[in-house]
Amino acid sequence: MDEIMEIQQLRQQLNEAARLYYTLDAPTMPDYEYDRLYRRLQDLEAAHPEAVTPDSPTQRVGDRLLNDFAEVAHPVPLESLEDVFNEGEVRDFLDRVAGELPGARYSVEPKVDGLSVAVEYRDGVFYRGATRGDGRVGEDVTENIRTIAALPKTLPDKLPRLIVRGEVYMARTVFEEINAALEIEGKPLMANPRNAAAGSLRQKDSRIAAKRRLDIAVFNLQLAEGKTFTTHGETIDYLASQGFPVIPHAVLDDDAAILAEIARLGEERMAFPFDIDGAVVKLNDLADRTILGSTAKCPRWAVAYKYPPEKKETLLKDIVVQVGRTGVLTPKAVLAPVRLAGTTVTYATLHNQDFITQKDIRIGDTVVVQKAGEIIPEVLGVVKEKRLTDLEPYFLPDTCPVCGAPVSRDEDGAAIRCTGAECPAQLLRNLTHFASRNAMDIDGLGPAVMQLLVDNHLVKTAADLYDLTVDDLKDLDRMGQKSAENAVNAIAKSRDNDLWRLINALGIRQVGDKAAKVLASHFGTFDAFAAASEEDLTAIDDIGGITARYIRQWLQSPQSQDLVARLRRAGVNMTCKEEKLDSRFAGMTFVMTGALTRFTRDQAQDMVTKRGGKASGSVSKKTTYVVAGEAAGSKLQKARELGIPVLTEDEFLALCED
Ligand code: AMP
Repeated sequence: MDEIMEIQQLRQQLNEAARLYYTLDAPTMPDYEYDRLYRRLQDLEAAHPEAVTPDSPTQRVGDRLLNDFAEVAHPVPLESLEDVFNEGEVRDFLDRVAGELPGARYSVEPKVDGLSVAVEYRDGVFYRGATRGDGRVGEDVTENIRTIAALPKTLPDKLPRLIVRGEVYMARTVFEEINAALEIEGKPLMANPRNAAAGSLRQKDSRIAAKRRLDIAVFNLQLAEGKTFTTHGETIDYLASQGFPVIPHAVLDDDAAILAEIARLGEERMAFPFDIDGAVVKLNDLADRTILGSTAKCPRWAVAYKYPPEKKETLLKDIVVQVGRTGVLTPKAVLAPVRLAGTTVTYATLHNQDFITQKDIRIGDTVVVQKAGEIIPEVLGVVKEKRLTDLEPYFLPDTCPVCGAPVSRDEDGAAIRCTGAECPAQLLRNLTHFASRNAMDIDGLGPAVMQLLVDNHLVKTAADLYDLTVDDLKDLDRMGQKSAENAVNAIAKSRDNDLWRLINALGIRQVGDKAAKVLASHFGTFDAFAAASEEDLTAIDDIGGITARYIRQWLQSPQSQDLVARLRRAGVNMTCKEEKLDSRFAGMTFVMTGALTRFTRDQAQDMVTKRGGKASGSVSKKTTYVVAGEAAGSKLQKARELGIPVLTEDEFLALCED
């Protein structure tokens, strides 16, 4: 096929898929397929830049850096809603409206738990997106809103000006995927989809916002120059016809039917890709709305019904223990099935041993389970009166239920963790860490490839990487001969890495690249390191008691010893290549300040640690020297006050080389 035609076709196909991805009941193109076609389109567009159009999905990924958020005045205010918390209050609202407008009709809609935004189009083209702010003035987040694939960038009707209001949200599935990836990378997790969406929408760098794959549900027409409508339902249908992902709505006039619809939305909330925290009941007739008007903050023609978190009692049948990717053991309650917030609940989280002990939760108890919003159900506590027999207190096992290695409690928290160096539950994370830039630095073995290696049972421990062949790799998804060769070469090359990389790669708790460098240059060989006692370790500057215990624990485990033996057999270097430790700075502490020109701050700190000294960020009486670059400020002043010698960059270099 002609490539230009293929570009047009892909553009259409992907835009349609992005649009359908949103509509609630439509089956969509699998993400993987979307990504594949998207990449093909990118390649073709790179070859034919003249065929790139503004509405191409590839153009949605903003790559401009936002400096600061400019203010945007909302011509039609983005109002709040009055909350109601029970059926009685909904009826009061309906009665109040009926007093003025008998026979009024209402739209009943889910209340999406996201961030309210206004999106403006000029002559049918996406023009600007802004947060709600105080309702009258919001922040310009155009570049981030542009990254929302589901939002049309051009409209069939070219009205001079059109403004819609919607909720930006992160789909639950996306939220889970991103959190899983963050967990593997060892980064802090996002608390819930709403926070995740809020943080993403206010990103300064829209490339990051694009990676968060935000979505939008449009629920109001704010302004449409040159068009008139009589009902809210008509406006929503019109917006749907223009390609907007609109909120589902039911138009009803009978009190009982309205209450039933609210209950149904609550029951079926899990069918929506977004979290909902209530249902909105609003007048459908636009002329009726102007009759009722607004208070200072809220329209008088609508209310938001907030669903209470549902709680139920059920039997705790068992406690199972899951091992997370970081090795943490999490107890999970196995429950006699109960219906809660629209789903059948059979599991709930018990957090950790301390939680179980505190609430005295025992297998066989009747427990109260709650599901607030859409988060994982939680056991609130035990109904002690219903404990019939003497039940045994519960304790997490002392060995990992996945690999059998001993567990140990974090010295600095409530988590209980598997210590197995080859635990399958932690394999993916361990492998990813092993190959990462600051560890063995193996190019081409990122998390996606590692996932494939694990899924295809090609590796069970990091040592297996060294047995991989081009044949093993070349037929993997998206690999091919060339990438397979590159990966195998990169793995082979990593055999010659310096010792500190290996020590970091092993994933010993609290041993990162800095500690690994100190250990490698201190001991010189892996064997000397492995033979070190806790006392030997704590005698080293920078290695604390907790870290020393974690190191000993790791080294003593048979799984670890096996892993090291296999790495050795695979030819991985086990000695420190740097010259023997220079200790001229032993016992000295250096502080760098100001703009350094001869070396970066990191390099300077490296120069200090390589010579056995310590680099610190703040000046105190214990500081030996302050190295001051240009425009040094408060630290230099402090040094003078304390009478600490100050070195220029040249003097520092001389001291290093002397
Ligand atoms: P609050 O901010 O708590 O007063 O709740 C009102 C918010 O609910 C508005 O700012 C809207 O952004 C949001 N909302 C979500 N879904 C809807 C909907 N279907 N109709 C009206 N507002 C909605």
